[in-house]
Amino acid sequence: MNKKDVVIVGAGPAGMCAAYRLIESGLNGKRILIVDKGRDIDERKCPMIREGKCINCEPCNIMCGVGGSGTFSDGTLNLRPDIGGDLVEITGDCDIAWKLVNDVDKIFLRFGAPKKLYGINKKGITELKRRAASAGIKFIEIPQRHIGTDNAPMVIRRFENYLRENGVEFLLNSEVEDFIIQKNSCKGIRLRNGRVINSRCVLAAPGRVGASWLNKIVEKYGIKTKFEPIDVGVRVEVPAIIMEPIIQINRDPKFHIRTKRYDDFVRTFCTNHKGFVVRENYDGIVGVNGHSIKKKESENTNFAFLVRVSLTEPVENTIKYGRSIAKLATTIGGGKPILQRLGDLRRGRRSHEERILQNEVQPTFKDYTPGDISMALPHRVVMDIIEGLEKLNEVIPGVATDSTLLYAPEIKFYATQLEVDENMETTIMNLFAAGDGAGLSRDIVNASATGILAADGILKRLKD
Ligand SMILES: Cc1cc2nc3c(=O)[nH]c(=O)nc-3n(C[C@H](O)[C@H](O)[C@H](O)COP(=O)(O)OP(=O)(O)OC[C@H]3O[C@@H](n4cnc5c(N)ncnc54)[C@H](O)[C@@H]3O)c2cc1C
Repeated sequence: MNKKDVVIVGAGPAGMCAAYRLIESGLNGKRILIVDKGRDIDERKCPMIREGKCINCEPCNIMCGVGGSGTFSDGTLNLRPDIGGDLVEITGDCDIAWKLVNDVDKIFLRFGAPKKLYGINKKGITELKRRAASAGIKFIEIPQRHIGTDNAPMVIRRFENYLRENGVEFLLNSEVEDFIIQKNSCKGIRLRNGRVINSRCVLAAPGRVGASWLNKIVEKYGIKTKFEPIDVGVRVEVPAIIMEPIIQINRDPKFHIRTKRYDDFVRTFCTNHKGFVVRENYDGIVGVNGHSIKKKESENTNFAFLVRVSLTEPVENTIKYGRSIAKLATTIGGGKPILQRLGDLRRGRRSHEERILQNEVQPTFKDYTPGDISMALPHRVVMDIIEGLEKLNEVIPGVATDSTLLYAPEIKFYATQLEVDENMETTIMNLFAAGDGAGLSRDIVNASATGILAADGILKRLKD
């Protein structure tokens, strides 16, 4: 393999869109190499998808390989620059940010994403916006494209074929161990098997699955980073019938709320209509999430209700803080998620099993500890949740009744953000970063857009 112009670490949306932009801008595809520790799309078989059991494949076939994480997901494209990232902040220009979203959409359309758009029912949306505004809440209008579970691998396969046909080389089942950095300039990569590949520029796009590896690299070379805010809160479960009128307008409605007491930012996220609450484990701590299954429906709807937490001096490490909250919740819950009725939280008493059994809303997740969320989450977060739900009740009547169920903790951690300039170049020359692993995005559209921006930056560097 000759020296490359560009080595891209990670074949997820960020890496693939970067390669696409490079060849579309005239760079000879043969000069581009994409390295990924995962497999090719047709070899990414996950026992979890077929038999519902995770046997911890290494590397994980859900997260790793061509198409990156989410290849086997519902493939929802949130066509906004401020959901799943903040392209306006990155580019400093609203028009450029929207154009990037458009560019990403065109790429996925080109490779077979369906033309149909969701979330554009103008009449319903205007009415919802009006109702939300009159309650002092912002309803976020999001045009969405659903690639769908069945289609996503086909779209990725076509995308990969196009890159290959244009000369882009893929080196799969190959884990990058380190970058070659000399005199504050990146000269290439070193694989786990010791092989060195030289390159004029390197793009780090390793996704969430590669975030801790990237963190180690960042510490080793003193690459500048900053801590991102985290989201701390609960998963709310209510009767599906309450949410029905909203779901008809938007299947994953996003409401943004500012609380009066603390002026904090609270939001709804990841709504699962007629879905189920599930447990999440990470490194000895327990949390909750939600999902919906096509073949099985529940009578409830669940959504995350999250408070944004940022920290300033002397403690900026939001990840450490979030983990300590999750640890406390795990201890109080005896190793299980805590479940409390909103009515009990309001009255300052814990929920008991009897109260849960008599409750109008029955939990879809059964392995809980009935308890008191205010013993686990910071007071400020608890107050924000109660105030936020009461506000939301003005838009979705019934969402804040005493029988509403709250599961804790639900915490969203994001990767440490690498400091990059407007060309996505890190503080190391010729080392660029994009996507979720570098803390620059949290969804497919934003990850892809940062990949495109990095490609533009790389092209400028190659002309130097
Ligand atoms: C189950 C699931 C469902 C999702 N559903 C949606 C959805 O519907 N809509 C949405 O917008 N987002 C969704 N997401 C999130 C979305 O998939 C990610 O935001 C997006 O894929 C991030 O793109 P990326 O290119 O930054 O990283 P990734 O897609 O994570 O790709 C990173 C790649 O880098 C490789 N890699 C990592 N470290 C190394 C290394 N050291 N050496 C070599 N290769 C390495 C990995 O193998 C991986 O293939 C979902 C995620 C999951 C897990």
